[in-house]
Amino acid sequence: MEISLQQDNEKAVLELIRSGRLPHTIILEGGEKDERDSAALLLAAGAVCREANPPCLSCNPCRKVLDGIHPDVFRPEPSKNLKSGILSLKDLRDSYLSQMSVRPNEADCKVYLFSDADKLLREDSQNALLKTIEEPPQSLYFIFTVQSAKSLLLTVRSRAHVMTLHREDIRDEDTEATAAQLIDGIVSLYEYDLLHTLYTLSDKARLEETLCVFTEKLRQALSFYSGVMTDDPSVKKLTRKLDRRRVIALIEITNEAVNRLKTNVDIQLLTTWLSSQYRRITWQK
Ligand SMILES: [Zn+2]
Repeated sequence: MEISLQQDNEKAVLELIRSGRLPHTIILEGGEKDERDSAALLLAAGAVCREANPPCLSCNPCRKVLDGIHPDVFRPEPSKNLKSGILSLKDLRDSYLSQMSVRPNEADCKVYLFSDADKLLREDSQNALLKTIEEPPQSLYFIFTVQSAKSLLLTVRSRAHVMTLHREDIRDEDTEATAAQLIDGIVSLYEYDLLHTLYTLSDKARLEETLCVFTEKLRQALSFYSGVMTDDPSVKKLTRKLDRRRVIALIEITNEAVNRLKTNVDIQLLTTWLSSQYRRITWQK
């Protein structure tokens, strides 16, 4: 696998490895999934590489980690008899826990890399790992990757070093572009344009980010009515189409949507509702 990490994240991971005190249990949270997986591989390579500045990524052990064939780096997979992406407690015990005290094959240590650990390990499995995590032998390392460390048991979290990866800056540009698309959808004659943009936002965090950027643009539109000029083409588009009263109504309904997002709302129902509200505000007499 290719290592693809944003520069500041890579720097933080390398610093942790080269500090010479690599924690035995690490939780990698934040960032995108491929970034978390890349960081986890980098940590695993760092643990088994014997070169001066580990991981060198070119020695034999490093290459094996990247190719997924290092005999001391384990990536537990979901149990085959379960559909849900879960590693059963029995499989965890039989295939991994029972082997942990066995000496490493080639390296000085063994690394267990639990990808999407919150989905992979139910509470019973996390509890089963606790004892080993509490007093890890020198030769064992555990890496858990999750969107948020909070999705793991507190008892696991409190014994781990939590490393938070930063999101890519590109994402902000992305959100900016989506917010502009949302405005295109709102001023469009066709409801489909608006619905289409909202339906691409099926992830709660993405939707919330986009709505926040959208609200900023609405506020800029309000400032425009008060005489403050704007360079933002999407804000200009709004002000050409909508008057002050409608922009205020859009801000209010968007705030309400953001509040609903914080509850356990169905995101499809929310975006459908939001689309109809935006249409009503834009087109009512
Ligand atoms: Zn190496």
